[in-house]
Amino acid sequence: MARKVVKKTAQPVKKSVIKKVKTSLKKVASKSTKKKIVLEPIMMQPPRGMRDILPGEQEYWNRIRMVLDKEYPKYGFGRIDIPAVEYSNLFVRSIGEGTDVIDKEMYSFLTKGKDKVALRPEMTAGIARAYIQHGMNVLSKPVKLFSTGPVYRYDRPQEGRYREHFQANFDILGEEDAVLDAQIIQLAHRIMGNLGIKDIQFQINSIGCPCCRKEYIEMLISYFDSKKKKLCKTCKARLKTNPLRILDCKEDKCVQVSATAPQTVDHLCDPCRDHFKDLLEYLDELELPYAINPQLVRGLDYYTRTVFEIWSVGEEGKKRSLGGGGRYDKLIENLGGEPTPAIGFALGLDRLAMEMKRIKAKSYESPKPRIFIAQLGSLAKKKSLRLFANLEKEGILIAESFGRGSLKSQLRSANRLGVEMTIIIGQKEALDETVIIKNMVTGTQETIPQEKVLNAVKKTLKTKPMIIRKKK
Ligand SMILES: [Zn+2]
Ligand SMILES: [Zn+2]
Repeated sequence: MARKVVKKTAQPVKKSVIKKVKTSLKKVASKSTKKKIVLEPIMMQPPRGMRDILPGEQEYWNRIRMVLDKEYPKYGFGRIDIPAVEYSNLFVRSIGEGTDVIDKEMYSFLTKGKDKVALRPEMTAGIARAYIQHGMNVLSKPVKLFSTGPVYRYDRPQEGRYREHFQANFDILGEEDAVLDAQIIQLAHRIMGNLGIKDIQFQINSIGCPCCRKEYIEMLISYFDSKKKKLCKTCKARLKTNPLRILDCKEDKCVQVSATAPQTVDHLCDPCRDHFKDLLEYLDELELPYAINPQLVRGLDYYTRTVFEIWSVGEEGKKRSLGGGGRYDKLIENLGGEPTPAIGFALGLDRLAMEMKRIKAKSYESPKPRIFIAQLGSLAKKKSLRLFANLEKEGILIAESFGRGSLKSQLRSANRLGVEMTIIIGQKEALDETVIIKNMVTGTQETIPQEKVLNAVKKTLKTKPMIIRKKK
């Protein structure tokens, strides 16, 4: 049984290999048909920025999936699955033109039917669409939705950033109260804790509502306009398209200019200020680690009021964003639904797996089999297959290596796995309807009738596992 998977780092396919494949394909093509068909070589790697997550790398991913599946029902969320592809204009309308996501990073294309569609760059837009389409506004509020899956950004690949990456998304729709903002941050904190990621800090800001933001943005434009010369090229353009984004530009010179820029929190209207004040009080009450970050604006147009990010703080003081979210009180309305305040956040699962590996967090250990079935001869093989199914039906985990003929090599596998009992069916036992039970710890053997196997196995499993040799 192939339990070990060879870990290999992705290597670009060598040109010489491609050439070889190409020439061999040409040969095949010219032999089988008279017309010369030249097949394109198949690249033995996925497109740039995408990758396989091999069985050997799944230990942290499995832990993440387990924690998510356990936590979302506890907080009253229902799972929703939405397509990875939507009509492009849903994203354009939700996320907004002038944002990097829409202008540069979206995988959009025309279908054969000439529909303009895009691979989802995030999940909230699709969830908002589903909420409206299925009339979820009639459900009792708040409506809490959990979803998880791949999202796509045509971005420059770098460490921890893939063009196809995975997110878990939590959305609470239908209520405006800041207590929900606090609850969703509490949930994020709980998930982090259960993953073993303890050194985190929530970066919090309020970017106001359309009413107070309008005035603020005018003030921001005039401030940045006066310092225009000191801004990077991108930010000079942002001054016209999306001035708020200048605040979270990572270029040194822009960071310096932003440091003394007017801050959103100082220019909130009364209801927005109260909302933010309430949130901070709740967070204090919950004793959650947070810091107000006036530079935090998040890149998407649909955000209103609360925005936040989850940062892990490493020993070197290097901060990594593991996820984030915020309110989107106007999104459902802007898409044609009834006014529905909402808040959500997404966790970057690739980042979480990377962080867990970095801090050596507990990973998921898959249960190890304690019983092995070995067989010799074709009748015994048939009997073993049936016995395996019968034991598996009882919920008993069995290891085997049915593909191997030699008993010696099967017993070697059993030893390597560190099982405590091996059930051996040879040619004689297959005819007699018996089996040999070999105790792998003491080495003793006994022959018992087949119908008594289940009891013998259960007896072994009742004892505490005795590891003969630890499997590496
Ligand atoms: Zn406001
Ligand atoms: Zn800049």
